[in-house]
Amino acid sequence: MTVGKSTITKRWVLNTLGVIIVVLLGVVAVAMMLFKEQYYESVRLTMNSRATGMVSSYFNLSSTDSDEAFNLRAKDFVESFNDKNIMEVWVIDRYGNVVVSSSGFSVANEEYPDYYEAKTAENGKANWIGRTSSGEHIMSLTFMLNGAHGQQQGAVRYIISLQDLDAQLWTVFCLLLFLCLVIIAFVTISGMFFIRSIVYPVKRINETALRITNGDWSARIEGQKYDDEIGQLSTTINNMAHEINETDRMKNEFLSTISHELRTPLTAIKGWGETLLDTPAKDEALQEKGLEVIINESARLSDLVDELLDFSRMESGNMTMRFDRFDLLQTLKEVVMTFKERSLRETIDLESTIPQISVQMYGDENRIKQVFFNVLDNAFKYTDAGGCVYVKATAEKKNTVEITVTDTGCGIAPEDLPHVTEKFYKANTAVRGSGIGLAVVSEIVEKHEGKLEIQSEPGKGTTVQLIFPVEAIQEDDGGQTPKGE
Ligand code: ADP
Repeated sequence: MTVGKSTITKRWVLNTLGVIIVVLLGVVAVAMMLFKEQYYESVRLTMNSRATGMVSSYFNLSSTDSDEAFNLRAKDFVESFNDKNIMEVWVIDRYGNVVVSSSGFSVANEEYPDYYEAKTAENGKANWIGRTSSGEHIMSLTFMLNGAHGQQQGAVRYIISLQDLDAQLWTVFCLLLFLCLVIIAFVTISGMFFIRSIVYPVKRINETALRITNGDWSARIEGQKYDDEIGQLSTTINNMAHEINETDRMKNEFLSTISHELRTPLTAIKGWGETLLDTPAKDEALQEKGLEVIINESARLSDLVDELLDFSRMESGNMTMRFDRFDLLQTLKEVVMTFKERSLRETIDLESTIPQISVQMYGDENRIKQVFFNVLDNAFKYTDAGGCVYVKATAEKKNTVEITVTDTGCGIAPEDLPHVTEKFYKANTAVRGSGIGLAVVSEIVEKHEGKLEIQSEPGKGTTVQLIFPVEAIQEDDGGQTPKGE
């Protein structure tokens, strides 16, 4: 898998920069249209207001004039026209011929559509924007001149060049375009910086994630500068890689532990099987001892397989619970009893203080037994001969019962303590164990809404505290079981 050309950059160019460019160009186009409209309108108004006064003062008496008199008046009008430097003026007679023009040039080839429009217009005026025969951009305004009876006697046409105005509009357009380019350049540069700050770290994260995917669990994302979403993603991936690394390490350790755990009893069983095969039938003592070892080791194998099965069910979420009412302390007493023989065998003193009360709990009795068994098994496993295991139950609160199992064993180092309930975690590799006992205990306690806490001091011992919610506590005889029951 290769990292292709950054699609984030492409998307940004398309979605952000593209939109900005289109919007800016749209704004420039609309602004130019409005400017142009506004400019032309102001020229039109100026032309209109100047022309109206002049025309009425010269031609309002022309109603009865002959064509010659009209022509004379027209010449007079054009000669006395003061705005020659900004406008040109034509006088057109009633036949549509240009009688006189202020520029003095020939107007033979010129078009004047505004004249024909004004002739039919109600107010006798018309405006036109177009190009002269020489290509000059102009605006013109034609006024019809009416006689006393309303008959059209001719027209005055004002013409103004739009060249200067167009040049001004062009300058404004160039300025706006330049402004747009500056904005686009600014947006592009800042956008590129922003994208670089995303794309490059993401590429780095992707490369590291690929290395992790390919099994290099020591790979870490380095050099993350900011604590933003990308920084958080890097931290999450680093943590994930660390977790995978740890899980892998624990899995390997677990496999080697389990292989060892399986091989030890199997070796004993095989060894004793072979010994018994070679032993004369009369040696009953040896036979008895061998069979005892075979039975014990088979039981241990069976327990281990049960533990593994439980763990696998727990992992796949299929650990079934059969909830019912039972007496919690009665169950505890039964489990403690089963350790009596072991305590004698291993010369570890087993003591207990369990009040003679009936405690009704709603839960899975077999699972709770498993909890007590695992915790007591650990207490014995990690305590040397001559040590002591002490089980105590108290029901001081109304709805909870607290059970503690204290031993005088090797204890747990402070750095291992927070991890001992994690699956496969073994703080003490010198002692046999799969590393999943406390993980199963923790899961069962959680399913019963109970609490599990472990305090330990290396070299001094460990106290496992279990708190279970219960339904009812009834005094039996108020007494307590004697020490060492
Ligand atoms: P294991 O099968 O290895 O005992 P557990 O999950 O039961 O696995 O316990 C995890 C680790 O916690 C053990 O490897 C051991 O180091 C530590 N531990 C548990 N209980 C005790 C105890 N009572 N005393 C000392 N260490 C203990």
